[in-house]
Amino acid sequence: MTEHMNLFENVNRQFDEAADVLGFSQEMRELLKTPYREITVAMPIRMEDGSLKIFKGYRVQHNGVRGPQKGGIRYHPDVDLDDVRALASLMTWKTAVVNIPFGGAKGGVQCDPSKMSPHELEMLTRRYISKISMVLGPTRDVPAPDVNTNAQTMAWVMDEYGRKNGYQPACVTGKPLELGGSQGREAATGRGVAIVTREAYEGVLGHPLQGARVVLQGFGNVGSFAARFLAELGARVVAVTDHAGSVQKAEGLDVPALTAHAHAHQGTVAGFPGGEPFDPAAVWGQDCDILIPAAMGGVLTKDTAPMVKASLIVEGANAPTTPEADRIFQARGILLIPDILANAGGVTVSYFEWVQNLQQFFWDEAEVFEKEEKIMVQAFRDVHEQVKRHGCTWRTGAFVLALERVKRATELRGW
Ligand code: NAD
Repeated sequence: MTEHMNLFENVNRQFDEAADVLGFSQEMRELLKTPYREITVAMPIRMEDGSLKIFKGYRVQHNGVRGPQKGGIRYHPDVDLDDVRALASLMTWKTAVVNIPFGGAKGGVQCDPSKMSPHELEMLTRRYISKISMVLGPTRDVPAPDVNTNAQTMAWVMDEYGRKNGYQPACVTGKPLELGGSQGREAATGRGVAIVTREAYEGVLGHPLQGARVVLQGFGNVGSFAARFLAELGARVVAVTDHAGSVQKAEGLDVPALTAHAHAHQGTVAGFPGGEPFDPAAVWGQDCDILIPAAMGGVLTKDTAPMVKASLIVEGANAPTTPEADRIFQARGILLIPDILANAGGVTVSYFEWVQNLQQFFWDEAEVFEKEEKIMVQAFRDVHEQVKRHGCTWRTGAFVLALERVKRATELRGW
């Protein structure tokens, strides 16, 4: 079994470390670990070549004691129930860390969107939503985009849900602006990553962000916006790598130019003329102060962790660090800001989108950014308090904060 295949086990190991700190009973652990509802559905689709294909889809609702369940829908050939379960549980802890009134869920469909036409993707999305729509809704479970799904996918989700339930834009977030999406949602996760990086590097480590060297894996939604905001704060983005290439420049890459290049070249930084290419495998050992994994899970392992030269790691991606790598970073004194805090800016602005949809009253980008910053900085301080109180890692501190909040809500509601 690969490290990645143990995702649910890994999340539960992180849960247990925090539950140990809090002295949780075995009963409370089981209650909070066990998903509330798991659905598996089959979607038969007539493909454009005339063949019939049967796709498998999942929706796991992990916990809803603090509000409607919330989490993305992922389209990927390797999606399985265990991963979806792990990612749903991470959403429960993430929404609790930033203290927004949502629980945790996740959806997944086993498919390869790169081999499907837009029409086939629309049919698949509609069939998937029609099969799970009875457990969705603005007060039940509110999906959002994740890997390989986007604003267009969410528009189909809203439309399909609306066929049975009427016009309810608050049933899904990450929608196009024209259909009730929020200003600032696209930039929100990367912006949150940049805010948390500033708080950690300046506030905790005591170094100025001005001139600090940043390396990123991934230059998609999360990576490119994190790079943009960090460059605006004075940091130097010295190396970036993605699925197709990599580029470095010691004096700092021109991030807006790199973003424009990626947009014009199927999303990749490969071939950017404003820097030099390097071996993508060498990304973890790049000389830098701040390292931001913003692509895939399970990349910081017992093999790559010893190479890291940064003094700060900020998890833009979900679950990029294995437990073995966590221990290595802890032993080496490298500060690691965990995913459930670092990349929570996305779900925070999804919450704003839901609020705006319920009120049918919209905010401008400056208001969204200001409110996001307030929540991210508060969550950062709340986790820091736990770290100081328990002398634990930031990952355990974030879990402690989340577990306490979910436990308290559970006790108040009863079961
Ligand atoms: P994206 O698809 O926009 O970008 C992914 C990036 O990763 C691309 O630059 C791609 O080239 C790169 N990549 C893919 N495979 C790679 C490989 N093998 N080696 C190196 N780079 C590779 O995705 P995103 O929305 O930016 O999400 C990135 C991560 O952040 C994911 O783990 C996702 O779950 C997490 N995340 C995203 C959001 C959000 O709001 N988008 C919120 C929270 C967490």
